[in-house]
Amino acid sequence: MSTAGFRFDNTYARELEGFYVPWKGAEVPAPRMIRFNRPLALELGLDAEALDSDAGAAIFAGHTAPEGAAQLAMAYAGHQFGGFSPQLGDGRALLLGEIIDTNGKRRDIHLKGSGRTPFSRGGDGKAVLGPVLREYVIGEAMHALGVPTTRALAAVTTGEQVMRQDGPEPGAVLARVAASHLRVGTFQFFAARGETERLRQLADYAIARHYPELMDEPDRYLGLLEAVRDRQAALIAQWMQVGFVHGVMNTDNMTISGETIDYGPCAFIDGYDPATVFSSIDQHGRYAYGNQPKIAQWNLARLAETLLDLINPDDSDDAVRQASDVINEFPLAYERAWLSGMRAKLGLTREEDGDLELATGLLSVLETQNADFTRFFRSLSSAQSGDAASTRALFDNPAGFDVWLPLWRARLERDQGTAEARALAMNRLNPVYVPRNHMVEAALASATKGDLGPFERLLTVLEDPYTERPGLEVFALGAPSDFGPYTTYC
Ligand code: AMP
Ligand code: MG
Ligand code: MG
Repeated sequence: MSTAGFRFDNTYARELEGFYVPWKGAEVPAPRMIRFNRPLALELGLDAEALDSDAGAAIFAGHTAPEGAAQLAMAYAGHQFGGFSPQLGDGRALLLGEIIDTNGKRRDIHLKGSGRTPFSRGGDGKAVLGPVLREYVIGEAMHALGVPTTRALAAVTTGEQVMRQDGPEPGAVLARVAASHLRVGTFQFFAARGETERLRQLADYAIARHYPELMDEPDRYLGLLEAVRDRQAALIAQWMQVGFVHGVMNTDNMTISGETIDYGPCAFIDGYDPATVFSSIDQHGRYAYGNQPKIAQWNLARLAETLLDLINPDDSDDAVRQASDVINEFPLAYERAWLSGMRAKLGLTREEDGDLELATGLLSVLETQNADFTRFFRSLSSAQSGDAASTRALFDNPAGFDVWLPLWRARLERDQGTAEARALAMNRLNPVYVPRNHMVEAALASATKGDLGPFERLLTVLEDPYTERPGLEVFALGAPSDFGPYTTYC
């Protein structure tokens, strides 16, 4: 196929030689398009018509390279569940290249599941359909919820069967789009090798790409750390406010851009409980829902360690002091982002001193009742006055809520705007539909058996999470009790 609209401009390949291995995807028997994201393709300036085809499937399977691609496997390291691996890297992924989208933004196009690379270690380099579609649907749902995230451009099957725990599964590849694939682990790779000049090159590249306002700052490496801290603080606050549990917040899964990346064993909470863990491999709850802010700070401290030589090459004590100050401010940055989001969820437009207590007080009420998080916030716009019956009905015992409700109503009195305007604003922010675990599982199970109908339907629902639509009631409910405790595998 001709260029299909790809106009690559591959800065990573060009400017960061030695940070990757040039590579290509494995040939596969029968690449087939399963889901193509046409609106995203158009945003990227691609020829959607030409790519939504067998020829497009061959490209997104990694089977054939489009003209101008500079395919490569990126090197990175990472702390996995707290233990450091000096070499991870793209073990089953390839960067195809970068394009400038129709908004002028540089985006990576990346394939996941495209075969073995020099970084594969024991892995087969493959991906299978269920997890590929999970990343597709949850990533697109997160995007629709306004959370910074990588996007899904295409899901293809390869025509192969790939062995997994429970037997053979359809092989698949996800084409993913990201602001970049720079990770905390990318910095760790070079720091662990003591390659300070490479680190400087990487940091300058990251600054130019994501924080260009820092380019001419004398303290730009400290500035980079601050900027990443603030983006991550804002990101995690958003995760918490939609009830998202990433599940594997290893440092190689934390971006420098501030986008959510790598949807593996992730899931959404139904009932509000900070201790919620879904991942089968997270036995100690390191990446539990309520731990995510703390883990983000821990990961940022690992980033800080890689930057010390750049922050002050002449005085390591001073570098540590400066970097520590930045990291120690994470809780404050997080709280600021979180509180601002909570105010909006609660329909508040002004700031008052007691707002933090009001918001945390509400969480205590939800926690003791394990009340459905998404439904609670959605119902709140109708609880501004009257008997708040639909909200109260979400609690087995609404006693705690009954104490909190008048405090919130009194606070609304001191805010501005009409109840109607506030209800509209709240409903634009508190979704009706999030990717409910049981719905995602059902859709992936059907897809793996060859029926994509439920997946398509779920995707359509989640692309517009704020508009309540008749006939979609089941998508707004938590898991039925016979669904049992939910466990994710990656
Ligand atoms: P993840 O847990 O998805 O963040 O991946 C951690 C590391 O394992 C990365 O270096 C991946 O490239 C690698 N990896 C995961 N699955 C496979 C696979 N099937 N084959 C080769 N490498 C893999
Ligand atoms: Mg990863
Ligand atoms: Mg993964």
